[in-house]
Amino acid sequence: MRRAVIIGAGMAGMLSARASADFVDEVIIIEPDDLPDAPRPRKGLPQARHIHSLVAGGTDAMQSLLPGILQHWLDAGAHRHELTAGIVALSPEGWYRRWQPDGHFIITASRDLLDWVVREHVLAHDRIRVFGGRKVTALHGSDRQITGVLHRPAHGPDDPQRLDADLVIDTSGRASRATAWLADLGIDTIPHRTLDTGLTYATRLFHAPAGAEHIPVFNIMAQPRASIGQSAVIAPIENGLWMATLGGIKGSEPTRNAADFIPFALGLRHPLIGQLLYGLEPVSDVTLTRSTGNRRHYYEKARTWPDGLIVLGDAIATFNPVYGQGMSVAALGARALHQELHKSGSLTAGLARRVQRAAATSVEAAWAPATTQDIHYNTAHGQKPSVPERLLGRFTSRLSYTATGSQFMADAVTDVTSMRAASTRLLAPAVLRAAAAGPKLQPLSGPPLTASEQRLLTPLEEINGQPA
Ligand SMILES: Cc1cc2nc3c(=O)[nH]c(=O)nc-3n(C[C@H](O)[C@H](O)[C@H](O)COP(=O)(O)OP(=O)(O)OC[C@H]3O[C@@H](n4cnc5c(N)ncnc54)[C@H](O)[C@@H]3O)c2cc1C
Repeated sequence: MRRAVIIGAGMAGMLSARASADFVDEVIIIEPDDLPDAPRPRKGLPQARHIHSLVAGGTDAMQSLLPGILQHWLDAGAHRHELTAGIVALSPEGWYRRWQPDGHFIITASRDLLDWVVREHVLAHDRIRVFGGRKVTALHGSDRQITGVLHRPAHGPDDPQRLDADLVIDTSGRASRATAWLADLGIDTIPHRTLDTGLTYATRLFHAPAGAEHIPVFNIMAQPRASIGQSAVIAPIENGLWMATLGGIKGSEPTRNAADFIPFALGLRHPLIGQLLYGLEPVSDVTLTRSTGNRRHYYEKARTWPDGLIVLGDAIATFNPVYGQGMSVAALGARALHQELHKSGSLTAGLARRVQRAAATSVEAAWAPATTQDIHYNTAHGQKPSVPERLLGRFTSRLSYTATGSQFMADAVTDVTSMRAASTRLLAPAVLRAAAAGPKLQPLSGPPLTASEQRLLTPLEEINGQPA
């Protein structure tokens, strides 16, 4: 009987379980948490307290593994925002216009809801089971072939057990111990990079005003090239709530103090988000996280790689979350796993290496834009991007500037930021010509709001006349 063992039941773990289920007799997911049977928080997923938007390329990858998942999210209360009509965003280069939709979208919902719907679908498969309340502590095997894992209770007395497997997939997220486990097997030459701006995220939930349960995503972005590192986003989620997340790099961080939340948003490059939140009833405390650095293991470059081991999702790389691509990278990695399994038909020699290399493509697609922007912050800490990467950052800013006044450019940039097209799309002659010409329209002087959205804003005079 052939068995796949998945380490961790997050997004990458669930999707990888589904991707491998057609090619083995049994899939066992080992997870320290007892998984909730509803969209509820759990200890192993602390980032779920913060805004999680899902781009179209990640959604496509999930749909290919779990047909119909998008509709199930929407039925459960998620929101779909067509791009760029469904967002109001102040980019580093100016306000984006709300162009007619061109097929791209983002999904917003609580991360707990996104995961729960995925979990329900994956665990309905009769070959997939979860061992809850247990954690993996080591790999079993050699530098040539992984043959299983050691696992023990997440809490309570140590009781290590071995579970044999033909394929082990490490999807244990930021906490992954894969490099240490590989080093124990003699594989210790894996290149590694980090770039951390010291960004703090602060998130709070609010009751949406009556009739405004479905709003666009509002986004006041930071300006990395000016080293202005404060930002804020509001996204509608399920149950008539708005989730608001503030961001600030080291030295300009938001605090955990609820009284600081709206003043921080009012003090950004534009007060839009503060004006939207002012006077709303909060339904949670402020949650903080500083787990926001870019960190990447180049497993695809390891000199030797054992058959039977694949690393996917955040266990390979994490990204500054303001770019909103981590779940999509996890999904694209799981789709690459499925495609490679489909090609070879079974667990052939060299499969793990091929999947690792295929997954690196989507990791790079998120890594390059995130790090080439983040490098501009004077707080950025870690290995600096190379000269070509810096040039890429400058080129990206030019494209973004052009996109403020060119639908053609907005569509091209969205193709790439949605992870539906490779970044080479932006080197097409027509895109280069448009970038050279710059925006066709004058910059907008303020947010492009509809009359009903305008009515949601508390006037600044009223705010300044009263304590928040
Ligand atoms: C603040 C913040 C905001 C973010 N916002 C976005 C966003 O807007 N859009 C987006 O696409 N992405 C976003 N991300 C990234 C996204 O959360 C991750 O990319 C995504 O969760 C990766 O999935 P994963 O399965 O690799 O890891 P996770 O979802 O973190 O799951 C890892 C799982 O492994 C389990 N585990 C850990 N150790 C072990 C062990 N030893 N044995 C067994 N199991 C173990 C954990 O309990 C957990 O269940 C954000 C991240 C952060 C931190």
